[in-house]
Amino acid sequence: MKITRQVRVGKVLVGGGAPIAIQSMSTFNPVDVSYAAAQINALGEAGADIVRMAVPNKQAAEALADLKKVTKVPLVADIHFDYRLALTAMESGIDALRINPGNIGKRENVIKVVSMAKEKQIPIRIGINAGSLPMHILKEHGGHPTAEGMVAGALEHVKILEEENFFDIVISVKATDVPMMVKANRMLSEKTIYPLHLGVTEAGTLYRGTIKSAIGIGTLLLDGIGDTIRVSLTDDPLKEVKAAKEILSSIGKQLYGPVMISCPTCGRTQVNLIKMAQIVEEKLQQFKKPIKVAVMGCPVNGPGEAREADFGIAGGKGCGLLFKKGKVIRSVPEEQLIDALMEEIEKFEKEGDI
Ligand code: SF4
Repeated sequence: MKITRQVRVGKVLVGGGAPIAIQSMSTFNPVDVSYAAAQINALGEAGADIVRMAVPNKQAAEALADLKKVTKVPLVADIHFDYRLALTAMESGIDALRINPGNIGKRENVIKVVSMAKEKQIPIRIGINAGSLPMHILKEHGGHPTAEGMVAGALEHVKILEEENFFDIVISVKATDVPMMVKANRMLSEKTIYPLHLGVTEAGTLYRGTIKSAIGIGTLLLDGIGDTIRVSLTDDPLKEVKAAKEILSSIGKQLYGPVMISCPTCGRTQVNLIKMAQIVEEKLQQFKKPIKVAVMGCPVNGPGEAREADFGIAGGKGCGLLFKKGKVIRSVPEEQLIDALMEEIEKFEKEGDI
């Protein structure tokens, strides 16, 4: 893993070898304090480390102060163009800013933002999206978005902050085109020591968006690149957090409670395994320990195929098997199979013994 310069976003460390932080974004304006707070707290419960808020105007920037009083998850104020909103957001106690210093006008505006950010130890994320590269960058890079252009755009903003001796920087270069996003982050990682926030932007709805994000973010994480991630979905942000946790679990970076493996079923299956797997997956959410649980479709091959699982069940005709680490413990009537599995896992959660 590439070790980057560490920054602190409230209580969360980003970069420098810290665990990869999961981010999501609230769908509420901060002025809707009670709705926004309920959503932020739910995201925190679900595993979000940091939540970003769009701050479109002064009222929103001021409302962040009320929001901070009733939420525990560090908040990032997402601001476009108006440096005064950044100042108000910082006065409201925001934990980080997402603002591009090259877009806030005169140098004196940058200085005002940077001075307060330094005083309050608030990091700034620079965010470049392929779809909104400035005209001069597009002209220099063939007239259309490229990974090279995104990196050049990001580094322009970085330079402005560095000229003011500000180094608590996080950078993101996002594109909806996965290969472009991967290339841009690889290039950027070579050129900078700042932590990188990864995401495939406008990734789409749940199914497509999760796959695109998993490929883009997952590829980079496997390269050792990336300090914080957001799966962006056209869906409930709670699903973004769930998908992010799955990505981190799948590549063995960070485990969040049990991981379920299940077979695709075949002609040997004599139970409704799809339904069984859905029920088990749902029930596993109450557990915290990072164990592997298998739900398999036949007693002949199931226990062996899922040998690496800590616990598992294999459905049969009217009767199934309960197994641990590939070894069958007992056979159980089909309708009691899931309960028997849950009892074993509950016992393990309490006693810690497989
Ligand atoms: Fe088929 Fe059994 Fe393998 Fe599932 S575990 S895919 S049912 S052979």
